[in-house]
Amino acid sequence: MKKQKSVFSFAFSLLLFTFYLFLGLTLNAQTAAIRYAVAPDNPRPGEPVTVGVSGGADVKSAALMVGGKRLTKAAFFPIPAEGGRQAFMAAVLAVPSTAQPGGAIIVVEGAAGVTVEIALTIAAREFAAEVIELNAALTGIRTDPDPQKTAEAEHLWSILNRTGVDAFHFDKFTPPVASTRRTSFFGDRRVYKYSNGNTDTSIHAGIDYGVPTGTAVITCGRGKVVLARNRIVTGNSVIIEHLPGVYSLYYHLDKIEVTENFFVENGVRIGVSGATGLATGPHLHWEIRVSGENTDPDAFIARPLLDKDAILVRLQGN
Ligand SMILES: [Zn+2]
Repeated sequence: MKKQKSVFSFAFSLLLFTFYLFLGLTLNAQTAAIRYAVAPDNPRPGEPVTVGVSGGADVKSAALMVGGKRLTKAAFFPIPAEGGRQAFMAAVLAVPSTAQPGGAIIVVEGAAGVTVEIALTIAAREFAAEVIELNAALTGIRTDPDPQKTAEAEHLWSILNRTGVDAFHFDKFTPPVASTRRTSFFGDRRVYKYSNGNTDTSIHAGIDYGVPTGTAVITCGRGKVVLARNRIVTGNSVIIEHLPGVYSLYYHLDKIEVTENFFVENGVRIGVSGATGLATGPHLHWEIRVSGENTDPDAFIARPLLDKDAILVRLQGN
């Protein structure tokens, strides 16, 4: 009997100890400060903004709001601790090239709704204008109704709006061709003149490099090939996912040399440039998408895709 009692007493103590430990951990988790950070402070239209959250907050998504209207939204993904640096959650958002300069708000949402609102200012930016004349064949590619074109557009949209789970590349991007000759720029306000005299407007979603057919095209960063096939409008096309929701796109290739669902290293050849699809001459169209929104590739050449250090300095400083 005595022995049984002592076993009981030991078990009870263990239970009590576990309970206090649990209580302590819970209180600790509740009192650990949740911190938020945004970088850069004053993004321009077309540029990315990274939101970081530390302290174990249960965050799901971040949205960029201007005047009560949601412009873009992105999902959070975990950045594990490494090299003495703390873990945090990150979301990469894009400021649309059409956003008006001025005050904006980033709304962070968790499972239980809005967790915080962060104010920021969108800087002013000018974009160039250009007029492009299309012959009858190219006019047809843009204006002829075609169920195949519609299906391809829906397929592309479903890829670009998907947020993967793998983070392959954090550093700056390297340009996809050696040439620096650019024939169109990100955000150019375009007027298309059709062969029948009509016109239409669009905004150029990437950078055009004026390179001859057969020029080697390389990946701008590590990632997974999520599309490698011919499309009516963009010709032979390759799309690579680098971070959850962050994609690079390569259009009008003469030849594709990679396969869908394969992993590619930074700087490896994926094909050669050409003039397939809607192209008035040989060039490489290089585009970056962030949660579906076209984003200035130069912003990712100048700064890391996800600047962990900039976010961590802000997370620790506020
Ligand atoms: Zn282009």
